[in-house]
Amino acid sequence: MAATALVGINWGDEGKGRMVDLLTEAFDVVVRFQGGANAGHTVINQYGEFSIHLLPSGVFREGVVNVLGNGVALDPVSLVAEIRDLLVKGVPLTRDNLMISDRASLLLPWHRELDILEEARLKDKKYGSTKQGIAPFYSDKYQKKTILAGELFYPEHFRQHLKDLMEWKNMILTGVYGAEPVTEEELNQWVKDYCEPIRPFIRDTRAFLLEADRNHKRILFEAQLGALRDLDFGIYPYTTSSNTLASFAPIGSGLPGAEIDRVIGVIKAYSTCIGEGPFVCEMFGEEADNLRRIGNEFDGVPKRVGPIDLVASRYGVQVQGATEIALTKLDVLSEMDEIPLCVRYRLDGEEIEYMPFPALLGKCEPVIEKMKGWKCDISHIRDWWDLPEEAKAYVHCIEQYVGRVVRWISVGPERESIIRRG
Ligand code: GDP
Repeated sequence: MAATALVGINWGDEGKGRMVDLLTEAFDVVVRFQGGANAGHTVINQYGEFSIHLLPSGVFREGVVNVLGNGVALDPVSLVAEIRDLLVKGVPLTRDNLMISDRASLLLPWHRELDILEEARLKDKKYGSTKQGIAPFYSDKYQKKTILAGELFYPEHFRQHLKDLMEWKNMILTGVYGAEPVTEEELNQWVKDYCEPIRPFIRDTRAFLLEADRNHKRILFEAQLGALRDLDFGIYPYTTSSNTLASFAPIGSGLPGAEIDRVIGVIKAYSTCIGEGPFVCEMFGEEADNLRRIGNEFDGVPKRVGPIDLVASRYGVQVQGATEIALTKLDVLSEMDEIPLCVRYRLDGEEIEYMPFPALLGKCEPVIEKMKGWKCDISHIRDWWDLPEEAKAYVHCIEQYVGRVVRWISVGPERESIIRRG
């Protein structure tokens, strides 16, 4: 596996973290290329159970270099907390296995506050933000009103730049939202407490990656969220504010000229969605409650759940350019007599197989077909041929719809709970 991207095909939370953690045995470098600390990649391994927010999920593998690329929303507050947590739990993090791009923009103290203020202003029209400051961060980045991590190496320039931005942002905080302004003292404290500790990890990661690529090191690009949350091709405006697609990986990583050889798309065996926006395949009532309970689909609040959405998954595979699939959480469906699948949408009385324009999604209804369940525990199975026929049929059906081979089937959250095919 030379240059490989591991990406989400659905709405996020597909189980990318556990797949990266598994696959890193075959890689030398893992790079996060977009998104911020709003990720929650769950990883269970010899060090314990972790919810990785900003760090690449390769941090647990000895010999793997982990890079935070220029495309991420670099939140020093969250990163410092995460680094400390991992160090306490015995995960070695050093300048040799963790590198931060000097071109990554800093998520600044007002971004989180602006996120909260704007969601409050929107009231019942809110986007369902995770309130981590991601949308204000990326809009400021495109306005060229953030600070590059590498500017920390030039303290006088850094402080002046920060002060200029603060003056501008305070006009918005106080004038638009009637909130309290940020003070210089608060900013100085933030620099001391959160920026200084991450400074040793900041370097020219583009040069590092170029050298790694030249030396035929195996590089894994790790995405956050999924295709349907992509800013350009997702269910806008209920997307995230960055590009979650594999084709953005070379740019967001700092290796703009890289060619990606393989794109592993992660699909969950059923659907889940956090936050607002259209979710055509959504299930309600007892059936939904059961799936949510067995799949442990809670994130502070109960997640929205539904059967696998083959319309959305096929679209996700297309826009991701996925070359192969990792199917996760198949074990969660083991208790079902019949397994529902959303195979088409009904729009204005017509059945469609394509993903419609986002504004039409709210009018779509799911067309559901059912397959026979396998009704036995599969979490101990490691060999494809040992899977019940009904489970194999379910996997084959997904393959047919999305047009790609399912190469990994995950049947539990632990690293080893995996079935590999060919
Ligand atoms: P990510 O953001 O895409 O990495 O996904 P999350 O970590 O947010 O969500 C995946 C959840 O499912 C985590 O709690 C994982 O531990 C869990 N998980 C992953 N794969 C499996 C699986 O095959 N079976 C079960 N039962 N749980 C899984």
